[in-house]
Amino acid sequence: MRDPASEGIGRFVRALAFAADKHRQQRRKDVAASPYINHPIALADVLVNEGDIRDPVVLCAAVLHDTIEDTETTSAELVGHFGERIAAIVLEVTDDKALPKAERKARQVAHAADLSTPAKLVKLADKICNLRDLLAAPPAGWSAVRKRDYFAWAAQVAAGLRGTHPGLEAILDGLLARAGELD
Ligand code: NDP
Ligand code: ZN
Repeated sequence: MRDPASEGIGRFVRALAFAADKHRQQRRKDVAASPYINHPIALADVLVNEGDIRDPVVLCAAVLHDTIEDTETTSAELVGHFGERIAAIVLEVTDDKALPKAERKARQVAHAADLSTPAKLVKLADKICNLRDLLAAPPAGWSAVRKRDYFAWAAQVAAGLRGTHPGLEAILDGLLARAGELD
């Protein structure tokens, strides 16, 4: 019989393969149009290697976090492949695309504190990765003002995520403090 650690690795690699397939046609918004899957992988890297998180439920949710929001993936599909818990976390971090963008951003701020702990960990990693991208490989055509607006919004979301993981929160705070470098 397989031990729990190898079960976890098996499920994590299945989630990676699933996300890679779902995002296969997509690119990030940076000038080089990086493959989209680099971003979910970056979240897992942050959680494992900077946050020391080993819970396969959190790591699977991290690599799957944009599948419902940005691809045709349904929650039923995630339940079928990865179970109720992982699907529920992905749903928690999925914006309602029927709402206008400004409303979606306001809701992320309003609801951050109400998320489950696994969903907060995924959110922390997502914000860390997006702020790093804005500093190192920002979306093509974004002005300094737009990037700073994004940092200001991310700081509001981060406020609702406090008390979840001091190490990841310190990394996020360190990035938020670099808004002045944006040009
Ligand atoms: P978007 O939500 O359109 O883009 C940011 C998102 O893109 C990130 O959260 C990330 O989401 C994803 N992303 C993909 N590639 C990158 C990358 N290289 N670096 C960082 N993020 C990346 O933009 P905004 O957050 O600015 O929201 C749009 C709102 O801003 C609208 O309401 C619009 O009207 C307004 N707007 C504001 C302007 C301004 O100057 N402030 C100008 C024009 C519009 P994920 O992790 O989910 O992939
Ligand atoms: Zn994301």
